[in-house]
Amino acid sequence: MVATILGNIELDYPDYLRDESRRIGTAQSISFPVSEAQIVETVAEMFANDVPVTIQGARTGIAGGAVPDGGHILNLSRMTDITRMRRSDSEPDSFIITAQPGVLLSQLNAAIAAASFDTTNWSTESMDALQAFRTTGPWFFPPDPTETSAAIGGMTACNASGARTFAYGPTRDYVERIRVVLADGATLELTRGREKADGRTFSLHTESGSILAGRLPSYAMPTVKNAAGYFAADDMDMLDLFVGAEGTLGVLSEIDIRLVRAPHEVWGVVSFLPSSTATLAFVTRTRQAGAKPAAIEYFDSRSLDLLRAAKLENPAFSEIPDLPQSCHTAVYVEYHGSDEDAVSEAVMAMSEIMVECGGNEDAAWLASSARELEKLKAFRHAVPEAVNLVIDNRRKENSELTKLGTDMAVPDNALERITEIYSADLQEHKLDYVMFGHIGNNHIHVNVLPRNMSEYAVGKELYLTWAREVIRLGGSVSAEHGIGKLKSVFLREMFGEQGIAEMQAVRRVFDPKSILNRGNLF
Ligand SMILES: Cc1cc2nc3c(=O)[nH]c(=O)nc-3n(C[C@H](O)[C@H](O)[C@H](O)COP(=O)(O)OP(=O)(O)OC[C@H]3O[C@@H](n4cnc5c(N)ncnc54)[C@H](O)[C@@H]3O)c2cc1C
Repeated sequence: MVATILGNIELDYPDYLRDESRRIGTAQSISFPVSEAQIVETVAEMFANDVPVTIQGARTGIAGGAVPDGGHILNLSRMTDITRMRRSDSEPDSFIITAQPGVLLSQLNAAIAAASFDTTNWSTESMDALQAFRTTGPWFFPPDPTETSAAIGGMTACNASGARTFAYGPTRDYVERIRVVLADGATLELTRGREKADGRTFSLHTESGSILAGRLPSYAMPTVKNAAGYFAADDMDMLDLFVGAEGTLGVLSEIDIRLVRAPHEVWGVVSFLPSSTATLAFVTRTRQAGAKPAAIEYFDSRSLDLLRAAKLENPAFSEIPDLPQSCHTAVYVEYHGSDEDAVSEAVMAMSEIMVECGGNEDAAWLASSARELEKLKAFRHAVPEAVNLVIDNRRKENSELTKLGTDMAVPDNALERITEIYSADLQEHKLDYVMFGHIGNNHIHVNVLPRNMSEYAVGKELYLTWAREVIRLGGSVSAEHGIGKLKSVFLREMFGEQGIAEMQAVRRVFDPKSILNRGNLF
């Protein structure tokens, strides 16, 4: 029996009222289930009493999706077991592991890298698979949202991505099976390749024998990286409806993820370029060059200035290598491969492009060992952290201030246009900002750092204007963070009234009272 803790959540559990969006919510009770049975028990009780439930993974989300808006908090951080392993039936050169939703990405990556799991309660079949895993590896789980303290349940609910998505795709591509607890406590199990839509209609059987039938939304998904709205396609795997649904259709209580062969060689290079034009030319040519990079990441001149200042002022940033003074922008390119010659050749070809685009080969940083790569990773991760520190400082003066972080992707042919628009608007309004992110996927995060509420209002207006432009260009208003409670307006812009109504109709099939994650998406 799971204990539902009632009382003063604000006083006793303040951390659980927020996520990394810095939004602060309210709640009347909280529970920490350790099994699917306990999730079932809790949500069924809440459903019977019409109490809304907010699902929480590791609360690293930045769209406020895990921030409660009253009601009950279902916190899954104590469901951290990896319970099974098997070889994939469909792809022999991969393994499937079964994770509870609270397993952290850092925990998962460490276990996979060391081929060391807590095998208490593992079956003989899983132990045999582990034996094969150890002798045939190394293996890895490609999705890499920058924040490794994210949990697998949260990553699946948001269809999280990261730098390596450029080559490997988002979390969705690695989800093979899910177990779902629906709002009334009924359970569903969905396996890739097994439960399929028929065109745009679906009919699913819960484990207690009820039939859930409905129509999928009729819209076409954008062809860019996307984490906005329900996934819908003809004859789709029904588990894909739940991946990226941000907990509005059910609680993911168990997730099977696919591991693929780890690359033998991983090399990363940070190139410094003299202008935005040079950077765009470099990115376009690197994308088109023979060897496909695993990641292409961008840091504008203001991100580099922010890091220089952070390094001077804050010992936490001392690990970041010294940045060359004369550079304008930085681009990180990572190559993966099975042999050193091929990867070194790819890096040399990229270096030639860099020099032709005006970059200085001697100033570039090359990492080919795990230790060196960690340093470059620290550099890349320092930008969002430095941004958060700036905002936290400004919030001391005005607690209502938050950063405005965009998360939009456009098609390849619109990258130049959208970056021009961002820069022109930000400069015209003299806002403080940085731009960085996954330029390989045409997915640049603009972070507006308002100094006061009037700048915040201007930034908010610009964000809406940009969202409309991104949609017009065929892009997505959220490429990886999801819509949460902060971006419903943009979702409506993207899919229109009809699209929203169709999503809401799907939701009613699974959660007729809108109990789960009320306020997310719509
Ligand atoms: C510094 C920083 C950098 C980041 N960089 C990236 C990045 O590069 N790419 C990226 O994709 N994200 C990034 N994020 C965002 C975040 O890490 C991801 O969205 C992550 O997937 C959230 O996982 P979580 O476990 O923390 O989920 P939470 O924040 O706890 O929840 C996120 C959403 O999922 C729902 N949810 C959680 N668990 C479940 C479940 N078991 N069943 C149903 N619904 C559930 C929640 O209700 C909420 O709506 C970054 C965050 C930070 C702080």
